[in-house]
Amino acid sequence: MKTRIGSLSRIAGSVIVGTGIPDIQVGEVVFVGSDELIGEVIRLTEDNFTAQVYESTSGIRPGEKVEATGKKMVTEIGPGMLNRIYDGVGRNLELLVKEKGSFISRGAKVSTLPRNIRWHFKPLVAEGAGVEEGDIIGEVQETQMIAHKILVPYGISGTLTKIEEGDFKVDEPIAKVVNNEKEADLTMMQEWPVRVPRPFKEGGRLPLDVPLVTGQRAIDTFFPIAKGGAAAIPGGFGTGKTVTLHQLAKWSDAHVVVYIGCGERGNEMSEVLTEFPKLKDPRSGRPLMERTVLIANTSNMPVAAREASIYIGVTMAEYYRDQGYHVAIMADSTSRWAEALREISGRLEEMPVERGYPAYLPDKIAEFYERAGHVVAKGRPERDGSVTIIGAISPPGGDFNEPVTIHTLRFTGVFWALDTELAYSRHFPAINWLKSYSLYSESLIDSIIEGYRRHARENRNPDRLEESILQFPRYRSDTLRLLSIAAEIESIARVIGESALPDEQRLTLLTAEILKEGFLRQSAFDEVDAFCDMQKQFLLLKMIMDFHEKAMRLIENRVPINLIREIPQISMMMRVKEDAGGVDSVLRVMKETEDNLERIAVEHGFSIKKVRQK
Ligand code: ADP
Repeated sequence: MKTRIGSLSRIAGSVIVGTGIPDIQVGEVVFVGSDELIGEVIRLTEDNFTAQVYESTSGIRPGEKVEATGKKMVTEIGPGMLNRIYDGVGRNLELLVKEKGSFISRGAKVSTLPRNIRWHFKPLVAEGAGVEEGDIIGEVQETQMIAHKILVPYGISGTLTKIEEGDFKVDEPIAKVVNNEKEADLTMMQEWPVRVPRPFKEGGRLPLDVPLVTGQRAIDTFFPIAKGGAAAIPGGFGTGKTVTLHQLAKWSDAHVVVYIGCGERGNEMSEVLTEFPKLKDPRSGRPLMERTVLIANTSNMPVAAREASIYIGVTMAEYYRDQGYHVAIMADSTSRWAEALREISGRLEEMPVERGYPAYLPDKIAEFYERAGHVVAKGRPERDGSVTIIGAISPPGGDFNEPVTIHTLRFTGVFWALDTELAYSRHFPAINWLKSYSLYSESLIDSIIEGYRRHARENRNPDRLEESILQFPRYRSDTLRLLSIAAEIESIARVIGESALPDEQRLTLLTAEILKEGFLRQSAFDEVDAFCDMQKQFLLLKMIMDFHEKAMRLIENRVPINLIREIPQISMMMRVKEDAGGVDSVLRVMKETEDNLERIAVEHGFSIKKVRQK
């Protein structure tokens, strides 16, 4: 392609104006100045073009050249993406540092995928086969955990005239496809324009009814997220956004995790950069990075790069989805990204609408979250995969009534509201159970019950579980109702004092306390409790709610609340989640609680067991 070179006429921070390339397009990548900084055209006027630049423009002068590349912003996809750290424009940080030294220079053209590694390519289709776009033709064991499927690129179909097993670099041909006269050499590496969602099979959008199991009780039991769903997790400083995202990256049953970090300050990001490589995948015991792509907006990159990084991350996620994997994206935090939009818009002198954000903020937010989904991929063999998007938001002052939070909630089905007061009292995860919601809970409940059933069959005590598992939806809604009633009672108690309340209400407060301590609270740093499987989640809930039901019968029969409060099982119920004995310990506490309450009943001349059998 003929080089098209124009010149720089104006520089305003990360936005530049250039002239002299009449056929330049919006979305085209440009190299700016003699340092060849990476930029992207965002607006055209009569004979000028405006571009946002993803590297610091300091020292660049008007009159320097601007080169149009004729290419959209793309990212490379192929083996070697996992277990790597990229900067905001998809450059491999390790290679950057290796080639350019630890002080990352500007304008460095470094590829996304390492070119020197030879991967063992294993064909899965025979020579002579007819292939279509999206077909899986072979695979590479990218890491111990992930077999990377090699797909026929979109736009290519025909007869496979050559395919070879062997060790290849990503840019070496591994197969040849012939269609009439046209021949195409296939490599393991492809490129994809990051702002264009990757297509899937026509009509292939699947219902969101498979839970992404996270092992976090407040999430799985009360505000579950579906594989392919989208969630917003807003919270003020120190409310646990990062810890929660790390927990999800570590424990959720996604095959691949794409973590996009946009730290405000450099040190926030370096925390992620040093922490992540140390994390272990709890299921396989392998380094978590072997199923992770980490995109880090380093502090030496201007804010505009944050905007690009979101699209690079989501494109990489879609690519693993198309291989048939469940992928989860964590973006921390999308507020930093929205601030980049605000800054660019300011430089463009656009009319701001709300708090300085441009009018297209909601469209941009929608564009991102709408790339979540559970879909059937294009091509053969038939397979489905999903992209789940979880975006942290850091609203200024922790006030959710601000544009980024409000607009994000329009496009996400799950809202985990992190609460400053809960965080202050060290109740973690600080997910507010009265304000949070999940629009998926209805459709996930059946599938959750099915999951419990399967789990129960595979484990001990199947009979005992089988009968009660069907009641899970009732337990769940009863619990949420109890917690909300307790909140009302608490506000009355604050005025008149708890001892002035009727015993019935005092019991509700007691149960709410047990729920908060014994169920909702879950430390990310506890060896046992950092992850809680679904069976244990259910049994813990059942243990506490059955206690409530039986204790209420005692109260109805005039047993004073203090007698109930004194039983040692109250504190056991609060602590058993951390007991190394697992489900057996929960069942034991459950039984002891039941026996002890029955003992009190008998001492008062009745039986709660008998009442139940009536
Ligand atoms: P944010 O990203 O919202 O600013 P962090 O995720 O850094 O907040 O959390 C701040 C602190 O809160 C952590 O250092 C940790 O001590 C505590 N914390 C947050 N979530 C949890 C959790 N699930 N379990 C235990 N401690 C937590």
